Amino acid sequence: MDTENYKFVQHRECEFFPCHKTSDPDSFNCLFCYCPLYMLKEDCGGNYSYDNIYGIKDCVNCMVPHSPGGYDHVMSKMDLVMERAKK
Ligand code: SF4
Repeated sequence: MDTENYKFVQHRECEFFPCHKTSDPDSFNCLFCYCPLYMLKEDCGGNYSYDNIYGIKDCVNCMVPHSPGGYDHVMSKMDLVMERAKK
C-alpha cells in the first residue's frame, strides 16, 4: 500500500475548525478530535499544562494529535493506553 489516507481526515465544516490555533490549517488533522492519550496524564508526550486551581489537564496549546506525524505518535502510545486500561 503506497498511501496512508487513513491517518488523516479533516472536517472543514465543523463549527470549531480549527479548534487549536495554527498557521497551517490545510495540514490540521481532525482524526483524533478527542485525544486518546489524555488519560496518560504526564506520559502523553504532548504540550499540556495543569490548571493551578482544579488540577485539570489543559491541552489547549497542544498540536501533537493534529499535526503531521501525530497519528504515528498516538499509535506509538497505544500499548501504554491499553496497559493502563487493564483491570
Ligand atoms: S492533546 Fe496533547 S497534551 Fe493533551 S493528551 Fe493529547 S498529546 Fe497530551
